Amino acid sequence: IKKIAVLTSGGDAPGMNAAIRAVVRACTYYRVDCIGVYRGYQGLIEGDFEMLSARHVSNIINKGGTILKSARSEEFKTVEGRAKAYENLKKAGVGALVIIGGDGTFTGGLKFIEEFNFPVVGIPGTIDNDIYGTDNTIGYDTALNTVVEVIDKIRDTASSHNRLFFIEVMGRDAGFIALNTGIGAGAEEILIPEKNLGLDRLVESLDKSREKGKTSSIVVVSEGDKIGKNVFELADYIKEKYPFYDIRVSVLGHMQRGGSPSCYDRVLASRLGVAAVEALLDRTSGVMVGVTNNEVTSVGFNKAIKMNHDINEELLKVAEITSV
Ligand code: ATP
Repeated sequence: IKKIAVLTSGGDAPGMNAAIRAVVRACTYYRVDCIGVYRGYQGLIEGDFEMLSARHVSNIINKGGTILKSARSEEFKTVEGRAKAYENLKKAGVGALVIIGGDGTFTGGLKFIEEFNFPVVGIPGTIDNDIYGTDNTIGYDTALNTVVEVIDKIRDTASSHNRLFFIEVMGRDAGFIALNTGIGAGAEEILIPEKNLGLDRLVESLDKSREKGKTSSIVVVSEGDKIGKNVFELADYIKEKYPFYDIRVSVLGHMQRGGSPSCYDRVLASRLGVAAVEALLDRTSGVMVGVTNNEVTSVGFNKAIKMNHDINEELLKVAEITSV
């Protein structure tokens, strides 16, 4: 392999730039050329490439988002689209590809390998942490810190006004952000899709909080939680039951995806960027690199996509014990 291409795809996540930087510099270190592909798979199809030297990625380790831009590409979901992407890579003399993204990105990568036998290695970049084969995905730690900071601020107003706050956080179908920020910010109740508490449990829990003399409460709700249709309907339901509660809803939204990456995410991204290039140079393909128990590991794309990254039961217990 003489030339490696790198792209970011799907939702952006803080730390993607640190991963790009590490890929580029690992290429420099191992004396292979590096090509940046703009706008994910769409840029692959359109041949939107640029040669990247070590200096192109100066001063980006601290920046959120992705300098290569990200996009969702419907065309890449078609065989014709992927064939165009393959032709462009061949034409540019690229011998292998690093893809930074989430499960959709890896699904696309897997198809690409199967159809063209082209070497691809993945790096998990998503704030949701919903990928098997790594303890943390890049961006997750930063998102946790962003969310905790905001909930702390909301708590100030919740306690000043004796309010009940429902705070919706991201995570798609995974409750990692909700569970960890809920513990970290001292939420009274945490609603996650993996453990459907049901409305009765929530009501019971709020009753208990009141009996114990709590005058304000924070309920962290994962966007994927199935308890109500959405967080507003959930709040309406509680309001009907407890008209005396002063209820507010706060949907945190895209701020959770932005910002300067935490040191943890920068280090993780640096390790995985180097690991991805090394894996390709070792003739490995079809895997995602990750960090498990503080060691760099790799797992097949098929597993990374399909297997569940389980919610830690011990964390659930800690949440319950510490919210009394
Ligand atoms: P995030 O979890 O942050 O949203 P993601 O990688 O899961 O990241 P997606 O939008 O699901 O984000 O996928 C990114 C891109 O991967 C898609 O726009 C598409 O080009 C490609 N892709 C997704 N699913 C497939 C598929 N089944 N076949 C081929 N390509 C796919």
